[in-house]
Amino acid sequence: MRRKMAAGNWKMNGLQDNLAELDALAQGYGDAECDILVCPPATLINQAASVSGDSIAIGGQDCHKAVTGAHTGDISAQMLKDAGATHVILGHSERREDHDESDTDVRLKARAAIEAGLKVVICMGESLEEREANNTLDIIGGQLAGSIPDQVTAENLIVAYEPIWAIGTGKVPTLDQIGEVHDFIRARLVRRYGDGVGLSTRILYGGSVKPDNAADIFGVSNVDGALVGGASLKAKDFGQIITAL
Ligand code: 13P
Repeated sequence: MRRKMAAGNWKMNGLQDNLAELDALAQGYGDAECDILVCPPATLINQAASVSGDSIAIGGQDCHKAVTGAHTGDISAQMLKDAGATHVILGHSERREDHDESDTDVRLKARAAIEAGLKVVICMGESLEEREANNTLDIIGGQLAGSIPDQVTAENLIVAYEPIWAIGTGKVPTLDQIGEVHDFIRARLVRRYGDGVGLSTRILYGGSVKPDNAADIFGVSNVDGALVGGASLKAKDFGQIITAL
């Protein structure tokens, strides 16, 4: 049985005051049956890790593919770990778009993160144009093949399907559309890694997950949880999503 996961991506939101939300989340939902992960901005990771205690895992939102070096402004996987993170989100569409990250970049970052002992949440998703051209599964298949390294286990890999057009828009694919992509990702993971890793790796859905649609989305086959943006910023909203898992 795959353990469900609720992951929150705070993106470029959050100052020290916002750690109160994390504290409230830990108090209210820390004993939930599922894994909870919160990925605040890098500036808050260290404090977040002490506020959240053992009940909530803390992750970064990106890391560099190199271990150390002359990369002004960048953060290595080892630095995230040193600050208290156990996970890192990689290949989010906002990084792919804003920073021109390719599948290869994401794969090399994932390798560096795994080598540093982090678990990776690797994101993939199609644009509206790609969906309308009926290319969704091709795009996802390509991103999966290119972005996920060979050296993964079911413990250190989490896949997130996030259709770009559903992020922050309030638009959500139909449950059939979500199921089709999640089933496809599952089949590709099994084909590439075998039943052991393929069947045990968690696949999260992300894109406008809210308290009022979470239960329906979590009922879809091969949806093992959610990667939540806006609704993860408030303990009350994220808590309701956690409860729906
Ligand atoms: P929203 O939940 O705000 O749509 O964001 C989803 C997302 O991009 C999480 O990584």
